[in-house]
Amino acid sequence: MRFSQRGYHTFSWSTDMSQQALYQILGLHGYQITDVERDEKQLLVHARPQPHRVCCSVCDSRDVTRRGESTRQIRNLPIGSECTWVVATLPRVECKACGVVRQVKIGLADERRTYTRAFERYVQELCGYMTMQDVARHLGVSWDIVKDIHKRDLQKRFRKPPLKHTRYLGIDEICVGHGYQFLTLVLDLDSGAILFVGKGKKATALTPFWRRLRASKAKIKAVAMDLSAAYRSAVEKNLPDAAIVFDRFHIIKLYNEKLTKLRRELYRQATDDLHKQVLKGTRWLLLKNHENLDPVKGEPGRLKEALKLNESLAIAYYLKDDLKQLWEQCGKFPAQLKLYDWHHQAQASGVRVLQDFARTLLSHAQGILAWYDHPISTGPLEGTNNKIKTMTRQHYGLRDQEFFRLKLYQLHETKYALVG
Ligand SMILES: [Zn+2]
Repeated sequence: MRFSQRGYHTFSWSTDMSQQALYQILGLHGYQITDVERDEKQLLVHARPQPHRVCCSVCDSRDVTRRGESTRQIRNLPIGSECTWVVATLPRVECKACGVVRQVKIGLADERRTYTRAFERYVQELCGYMTMQDVARHLGVSWDIVKDIHKRDLQKRFRKPPLKHTRYLGIDEICVGHGYQFLTLVLDLDSGAILFVGKGKKATALTPFWRRLRASKAKIKAVAMDLSAAYRSAVEKNLPDAAIVFDRFHIIKLYNEKLTKLRRELYRQATDDLHKQVLKGTRWLLLKNHENLDPVKGEPGRLKEALKLNESLAIAYYLKDDLKQLWEQCGKFPAQLKLYDWHHQAQASGVRVLQDFARTLLSHAQGILAWYDHPISTGPLEGTNNKIKTMTRQHYGLRDQEFFRLKLYQLHETKYALVG
C-alpha cells in the first residue's frame, strides 16, 4: 500500500512536471488545453486561460464577474512539420473595481499579432540560420510576417550598437543599388561589426556617428580609411588623438588605376599596328600579381613583350612591386626610407602619372607609415561589401531603408551564405 502510494505520488509529480514543460515548450504557459483537432493540414489546439489568470486586464483584480467570452485563433509553433494554431477562448469579465467589462489578457501573444510569442521567438532564431525566404517557406507563412518579426528583433538589438569598447575603426564608402547611391560605413575592426551606416560619402555622412561616439566615451586608437580628403578631415576634427592609417589596399588599387590610365594613353599614342596589338589586352595582365600570371595562356610572355616595347609601362609595372614593399619593411624607419626612395624613382622616371602618384604618396606619408604603429586596414570592409552586394540583390534590398540598415548591423553574425 505504502509502495503504491509512493509510486502514485511520484507518477503524479512527474506528470505535472512534464505537462508543465510541454505547455512551456508549446508557449501555452498559463493555459489549459481543452481539445485538440487535427485535419490533414493542421493542428488546432483549443485552450483557455487557467482560472487564476481570469482577472481584470487593467488592474489585475480577481473580483470579477464573467460576461461571456470570445475566441481568437493564432498561429503557434509547428509540431514537426505540422502547422499548429491555438484557438484561445478568452472570457470577458466585468471588474468590480473598474466597473468596466473587458476581455482577459491573452498573455501568450501580443494583442496586435496573429501569432504567439513562442512562434515569434522561433522565427527570430531561424532568421539567424537561413534567409527570410527559407523561414517563410519552412513555416508556411508570408514573407512579410517573417520580415516584421525579424525587423522588430533587429530593432531591439541594433538600434544603437554599443561603442564604448571600440578601439579601431575602419571607414569606407559603398555603392548600393542601381542608382549609384553611396553609403558610408564605419566598422569595428576588432569585432568586424558595422557600427554606423551614414548616407552619402561626404564628411557630413558621419556627423551622427561622432555624436554617439563622444557620448560613449570610447578611446579610439586608430582609424583605417582610403585617401579621401572628406573622411580624413572629419577624423582629424572629431578624433584628434586617433592615428589615421591609410589603407594599403586602397593605395595599391589607386596605383592600379594609374597603371590602367598609362596603358590607355600609350595605346592612343602608339602609331604602328604591332605596337597596338601588343598593348591590347594587357590591362588585366598589368593588374595581376606577377606570381598569378598563367603560363598556359602565355601571359608572362605577352606581358614581357608589352613591357619591352614600352619603357614607361615597364617602369610603372616594376614600381608597382616596389610599392608593395612599403608594407614589408622591418620597421617604420626603413619604411620611411623606402617611401622616399620610391618617390625619387618615380620622379626620375619622367612618367607624368607616376610623378603625380609619388606626390600623393608623399603628402600622405604619415598616414601610410602609421601602419607600422597600428597594422590595420579597411580590408574587412571589402568582405562585408561582398555580403552587402548579395543582400541588395535580394528583393528586400533598399525598399525599406531602416530594415536595410538594421541588416547591415547584423551582417557580422550572419551564419548562412546570403544567397537566394
Ligand atoms: Zn479592473
